[in-house]
Amino acid sequence: MLNHEELQQAVNEIAEEMRARKDRGTVASYIPELAKANADAFGIAIADNHGNVIAAGDADEAFSIQSISKVFTLTLALGKVGDKLWRSVGREPSGSPFNSIVQLESEHGVPRNPFINAGAIVVTDTILSGHQPKEALGEILRFMQFLADDPSIYIDHSVAASEQRTRFRNSALANYMKAFGNLENPVEHVLGVYFHQCAIAMTCRQMAMAGRFLSNSGRNPASNFQVVKPEGSRRINAVMLTCGHYDGSGEFAYRVGLPGKSGVGGGILAIVPGDASICVWSPGLDEAGNSHLGRIALERLAKKMKWSIFGP
Ligand code: GLU
Repeated sequence: MLNHEELQQAVNEIAEEMRARKDRGTVASYIPELAKANADAFGIAIADNHGNVIAAGDADEAFSIQSISKVFTLTLALGKVGDKLWRSVGREPSGSPFNSIVQLESEHGVPRNPFINAGAIVVTDTILSGHQPKEALGEILRFMQFLADDPSIYIDHSVAASEQRTRFRNSALANYMKAFGNLENPVEHVLGVYFHQCAIAMTCRQMAMAGRFLSNSGRNPASNFQVVKPEGSRRINAVMLTCGHYDGSGEFAYRVGLPGKSGVGGGILAIVPGDASICVWSPGLDEAGNSHLGRIALERLAKKMKWSIFGP
């Protein structure tokens, strides 16, 4: 295991390499506002279970967390309804793109897992039940602020509005599930909350802080607050490992070997169970919609630190 200075040195080197690389992937443009991201950006932050944060590059620049939000809404929904959640969403990898509709027909409107868009929309519906959209969204935002210990985390309303304007695929998914009786609330309400949760803006440092409970058996190492039971965090990590990168999940497990969740804003949250929570960000994506350099950086780091859960 490297000491603090050696880890900082390793992270600096990774950030320098990533900044210099010419292969940067493609910035998402299907949500027009996301296309404005700076393709040259690269940030990384590691929050370890001893309270240290090690960061490099653009670790303090806010980016759109997009699907990384799905880890936290899953946590909230499991806290609210427990295992009943698994009646309306599965926990198997889909092997399909993030916004795919193909499996929904043969599987009667029950999405494969909570991290593809259809599954995340069901999870948001669960959080929304019994509340107004504003309250549900407030709960999600406050949860992120609480976990990161940073009340300055905000929703980027221009990103939410941009996604709202180009929502046709997500509308199709939500309406289709509604037709199968798998959404309780009005489609427009569920989508409104979903788009705004995806539009939360955070820095790598804030996201690494927010993920700490997953590297520490469900307990926030700083406040000692038990966010979920140890069993809950183990299971969320398992779903992140198998489903967190859509149809690139196998490749991510093969190369990095850590539970991780990506978002089309170019962020990836990766968890080293027992050790640390990591966030990397680089807006250019690979074909599966996962951060190209983010994945490479995590591969470097996991190798150097012998952090893969599958062994050195
Ligand atoms: N808000 C995005 C969508 O629904 C999230 C996709 C992602 O980050 O993978 O298309």
